[in-house]
Amino acid sequence: MQDIFDNELPAIAVRGIIPLPNNEFRIEVGRDISIKAMEIAEKKFDSNILLLIQKNPLDIDVNIDSIEEIGVLANISIKLKLPNNSFKVKFKVLDRVKLISFTQEKPYLMAQYVKVNTIIKSDTEELALVRQVVQAVVDKQNAIVVNQEEVSKIVQSGVTSDVISDVIAFNLKSNQNKYKYLKTLELEKRLEFILEDIQTEKQIVELENKINAEVKKSIDESQKEYYLREKMKAIQTELGDKAKQDEEIEKLRKAIEDAKMPESMYKKAMQELSRYQSTNSQMAESSTIRNYLDFITSLPWDNHSKDIDDLNKVAEVLNKNHYGLDKVKDRIIEYLAVKTMTKKTPRTILCFAGPPGVGKTSLGKSIADALGRQFVKSSLGGVSDEAEIRGHRRTYIGALPGRILKGLKDAKTSNPVFLLDEIDKMASNYRGDPASAMLEVLDPEQNSQFSDNYLEEPYDLSQVLFITTANDLSNIPAPLRDRMEIIELSSYTEFEKFNIAKNHLISRELENHGLNSEQLIINDDVLYAIIQNFTREAGVRELDRLIATICRKAVKEILMNKKDQVVVTSDNITAYLGKVKFFNNLNRNQNQVGIVTGLAYTQFGGDTLDIEVTYYPGKGGLVLTGKLGDVMKESAQAALSFVKAHHNDFGINSNIFSENDIHVHVPEGAVPKDGPSAGVTLTTAIVSALTGKSVDSHIGMTGEVTLRGAVLPIGGLKEKAIAAHRSGLTTILIPKENENDIDDIPAEVREHLTIIPVSNVMDVISHTIK
Ligand code: ADP
Repeated sequence: MQDIFDNELPAIAVRGIIPLPNNEFRIEVGRDISIKAMEIAEKKFDSNILLLIQKNPLDIDVNIDSIEEIGVLANISIKLKLPNNSFKVKFKVLDRVKLISFTQEKPYLMAQYVKVNTIIKSDTEELALVRQVVQAVVDKQNAIVVNQEEVSKIVQSGVTSDVISDVIAFNLKSNQNKYKYLKTLELEKRLEFILEDIQTEKQIVELENKINAEVKKSIDESQKEYYLREKMKAIQTELGDKAKQDEEIEKLRKAIEDAKMPESMYKKAMQELSRYQSTNSQMAESSTIRNYLDFITSLPWDNHSKDIDDLNKVAEVLNKNHYGLDKVKDRIIEYLAVKTMTKKTPRTILCFAGPPGVGKTSLGKSIADALGRQFVKSSLGGVSDEAEIRGHRRTYIGALPGRILKGLKDAKTSNPVFLLDEIDKMASNYRGDPASAMLEVLDPEQNSQFSDNYLEEPYDLSQVLFITTANDLSNIPAPLRDRMEIIELSSYTEFEKFNIAKNHLISRELENHGLNSEQLIINDDVLYAIIQNFTREAGVRELDRLIATICRKAVKEILMNKKDQVVVTSDNITAYLGKVKFFNNLNRNQNQVGIVTGLAYTQFGGDTLDIEVTYYPGKGGLVLTGKLGDVMKESAQAALSFVKAHHNDFGINSNIFSENDIHVHVPEGAVPKDGPSAGVTLTTAIVSALTGKSVDSHIGMTGEVTLRGAVLPIGGLKEKAIAAHRSGLTTILIPKENENDIDDIPAEVREHLTIIPVSNVMDVISHTIK
């Protein structure tokens, strides 16, 4: 090879790579000077070319000083032109050469050179080094060369040591100072360099790995930290919830302990509490248990109010709050006297019976006030489901305790005065009989162990002072009624109403409306006018409402018209209350044939009813119209039969019955009325119609009649008398057997009424039809 050329060849300077003999490599050649050199090499020198090493890769111009002393002789094996006019060239490196001088620098480099040979000792030391180097490269663990597989193949294919050294050195990953492999001529040295470099490379790799590991670790660590932080947050929330829950459980536990429940209830409460604790709060069951626990802890188990045993005080409170009602008050005080004496809740239950608005509820409240007990009220009107009294089983969705326990919860003491309002209005249906549950509530034998389905444990009602109210005693089931001590309250007379209004209602309403007794004056005759012409009621509710209406309007006047005082008189009453509603006395001025006034007794108190009879040609039929119940229809039949049987006595022609139809009409009125006591009225009305003789419209009557004409006693005389008075009647005929009841009629009514007891319907006729 030395002889091929005369030591002069075109040359190009390369940078960034140290070509080594026995290797091939590709580079991009772009500089004009280099491209020219290649062209010449190809043309004239069989593609042989010198590759010189630029000392500083950044130099653009090349001169002898900027070139390393040792370069290589190479052969251009492939040359591809690239779109940017540079060339991709593959060189096959043949020999190390030493640059002597440039013989030409432009347009391309020409250089003189001498080949330099590798000094190979081939001693054992060198061989050992070769083996070591090969070993290191072949070891896959190391990966210290690029193209490891290819390189391994070459170095193991029986090539000479210097080839091995060049191939490995050229392919070493580390790029550090590879020029040393070119310029060092001793093979042994080169092999040592390789081992050194391998060592360094290994260290670098190790270091890199270590750094990578560190980096990874730090990344892992920060991720780990993030993860842990997140987890910690979750745990903290969890712990917080738990803490909250613990707090709640603790509160409930304390509430249970504080409630002083009986042993069995306490055990159950604790069981429920631990169930609550272990139930997921998201589940519906959890809130069911919670409601239960809340309920049982708010029930008064051992919380009594102390009774005021001073009966004089009781009497005082009753008198203060209630006008009249002397008998009622006496009964109440007697009842409480027994209670005080025996120190036990009386075995019977008070029942205030009477029309609405006569003070039943307010008496109950007064009793509670007088005894210093809490007052609760539960209205039983319309209750038809036993569960309303006794509660629902908790398995029910939306289960609730019954009214009794609910009332006690509201009372907050276990011995309140408990008013069961309208006990006569309970109805039984397919859901069970509330009356029988009520029986258990009111029975002193049983009520210390009252069982409510919701509570599931017995509750002691024996300390509760139950009071019931009813409008109509006949609607109370007999077993219940047996438990009760009935105290009847009857309708108020106009005089009583007047006094109630004057002494109680007006002052209360004035206060409710922020007025004083100077600002609003309601004259007495106005009160009477309201009672007579604007209300028709047994009690005083409507009266109370109308007084409130007047107060409201007075307040408005005082504020808007800047008045100091409002005076309501009978002249300006309609401005406050509108038109007169009832004309009690006006239509009594005319006597009419076939119209007779009866006296009736309803759950709303006494009332009057006008019975009308007329007849017209027909076939002897009886026509009944209006609001008549079955009893009244039969009474009408009986009355007609009686009149037929005694037509001679009345001077009635018997033909009249066969040639006419007789029509009896009972105007409906506000409240349906039924009962036998219309007998005398029906008979009198028929006689009046058939005889053509009128009956004084100021006469009222009541009494049941037998077919023989006997007048049987009736109930509710007092109410009927009050109603008669209220309606402007002046005379009433009553069954003789009711004479004893005349005492019950309030004096102020009695003195305005002529009361005629009768024992036979003939007496009635003789008193009325003249
Ligand atoms: P009831 O329960 O019989 O339907 P309430 O007790 O509700 O009647 O009474 C209705 C109103 O009439 C209450 O405001 C009450 O204070 C009043 N009242 C009834 N009777 C009297 C009375 N004798 N004295 C004073 N106020 C009475």
